[in-house]
Amino acid sequence: MRVVVVGGGYAGISCLIRLHGRFRECQRILVDPGHLHIKRTRLQEIVRRPLEGLREPFVDLAARFGFRMRHGLVDCRPASLAGYSREGRLPLGKRGLAFDFLVVATGSPDRTPPGRAADVITVADTATPAGGKRLLAAAEKTRRGGPPLAIVGAGATGLQYLFELLETGVPGPGLLLVDRGQRLLSGQPEAIRDYVAGRLASAGVRVLSNTRMTSFRGGGRAGSLRVAGPGGRRAHNVSAVMFCPGSGGRRLRADPYGRVLVGRRTLPNVFSAGDAASWAARGQDGRTAQAAVRKGRHAADNIRREVRGRMMQEFLTPNLGFFLSMGPRDAAGWVASPSRVVTGLPAAGLREAIETRYELMLEGIDTFAAF
Ligand SMILES: Cc1cc2nc3c(=O)[nH]c(=O)nc-3n(C[C@H](O)[C@H](O)[C@H](O)COP(=O)(O)OP(=O)(O)OC[C@H]3O[C@@H](n4cnc5c(N)ncnc54)[C@H](O)[C@@H]3O)c2cc1C
Repeated sequence: MRVVVVGGGYAGISCLIRLHGRFRECQRILVDPGHLHIKRTRLQEIVRRPLEGLREPFVDLAARFGFRMRHGLVDCRPASLAGYSREGRLPLGKRGLAFDFLVVATGSPDRTPPGRAADVITVADTATPAGGKRLLAAAEKTRRGGPPLAIVGAGATGLQYLFELLETGVPGPGLLLVDRGQRLLSGQPEAIRDYVAGRLASAGVRVLSNTRMTSFRGGGRAGSLRVAGPGGRRAHNVSAVMFCPGSGGRRLRADPYGRVLVGRRTLPNVFSAGDAASWAARGQDGRTAQAAVRKGRHAADNIRREVRGRMMQEFLTPNLGFFLSMGPRDAAGWVASPSRVVTGLPAAGLREAIETRYELMLEGIDTFAAF
């Protein structure tokens, strides 16, 4: 029995760890183009800690959890998956890679910046030493009195980078937050939105809402960020643009058990997990690490059930909470119910506990089974 997992992010690694714990007799193979598992939920921390702590070599995880590694980029469009499902084989290498079950966990594709703005710093860039250096250099320029640093996208990701930058001493008026929406963090409880807006206002961060980035041209001491908003089209001199537009792109569709659907057809041997797919289940379906970990584990359990001739189970885990990190000592979020809002140091502690729980799982201490 061989399970091939495509994509070594939160969903893929959680699936492999669960298979190691509960279905060790199956052979497990991870396919990913990279060499490192990236802890993306902490990527904004690169402005204050080394990147090494946020990446884990796949070879180490493979040794710890008994899987094999193949490097490659797999075409995971629905029609291609239907072909792999029929043949029980991925087109990798000369002979292909045979599987009994395939798990697609390739995450969300990065959105392309508008106006072919190649100079912007993307979230993916910050997972590389060169990208991290560019962000730090821009922050330093702003700190020394240069033009402001722009953050495009005021969702949770953009805000997390912003608060980390504030923490490193970039002054609030040196940060320009641009968002096409009218309100920050729409969808989150008002108490959280008010708390975050209050911190932005007291720091003096300039927020341009209802405003969309149209292009950016970098170069020299300052780049030119062009935007379109309520006041018409404007250009702002900025030290850099940190581009955080949120996850986009179409997701694969999957049934309540996590099996990929192509049209009306279920692919019986192809599962999905994480940002890559939307499941028609009653459980949470957001593009979050929280959902990715749980769906990765759920897909592993359903594969085991299927092999043992047992009924697969629908994914029912609800959204258990939300936390926005606002630097090492501050956060805002809720646990168990959106009416239970926590802010400040206690919230930062809770968020850290959530991260620690994941780190422990990577070390082989799995507390997810308990709650
Ligand atoms: C800065 C930041 C902060 C965040 N904070 C939080 C948070 O606090 N809480 C939270 O719940 N979520 C948070 N998120 C969202 C969270 O990181 C994502 O939801 C999560 O990473 C999704 O996990 P995944 O396994 O689906 O994909 P990913 O973690 O993105 O992993 C995808 C993997 O698939 C591989 N891959 C991609 N394409 C292919 C292909 N074609 N073939 C083979 N391999 C492929 C990639 O190399 C990668 O290793 C944050 C995101 C960012 C960027």
